Amino acid sequence: MEATFLVHDEQTVIIRGERFRKYLTAETLKSRTKELGAQISADYKGKKPILIGVLNGAFIFLSDLMRSIDIDCEVDFMKLSSYGANKISSGDVKELKRIDADIKDRHVIVVEDIVDTGLSMDFILSQMSEAGPASLKTATLLHKHEATKVDVPLEYVGFKITNLFVVGYGLDYGQVGRNLADIYILEDQMDQIQ
Ligand code: 5GP
Repeated sequence: MEATFLVHDEQTVIIRGERFRKYLTAETLKSRTKELGAQISADYKGKKPILIGVLNGAFIFLSDLMRSIDIDCEVDFMKLSSYGANKISSGDVKELKRIDADIKDRHVIVVEDIVDTGLSMDFILSQMSEAGPASLKTATLLHKHEATKVDVPLEYVGFKITNLFVVGYGLDYGQVGRNLADIYILEDQMDQIQ
């Protein structure tokens, strides 16, 4: 069977015929995730937060983040409709899977891979707040701050990035590329960050 992604060289992968260039290395992601985990551990000392991962993209970041937290914490997942195979957000957010946990009076941290327009996070926060949590905060590995359409409170942000399409470390392009250890961006957008 033909591979849908090809490692072209040390710096480049080809996914669905498009070239992506390495942007954030696994090392960089690891050390920033550790910092965020330490910060959460300090902020929630004496509490038992529940991390709500947003599927599918956030599962890798969430698993690393959770292992960087050294206080008791729990996990649950929700799933929203995704981009499909496109690179531009449809802005049409639907819930495909609800959380199972009862989050009333719980300290909730919503964990996203990336906040782009903010529409998904805004939708999630309004859903979650209806359940009456004791507190509600957000963590995202990446924030495309220039793409914001709705301002959402983001307490734990890994990296602010410019408005570029990225893949790897849980993020996909048409379901491909999530298993890349590093994060890559579309090569024809590289000049925007140099
Ligand atoms: P928003 O609702 O903030 O526009 O988009 C949030 C969701 O869009 C993320 O959870 C992620 O699934 C997807 N997304 C946004 N930007 C990118 C990107 O650059 N690459 C990938 N793979 N997904 C993205």
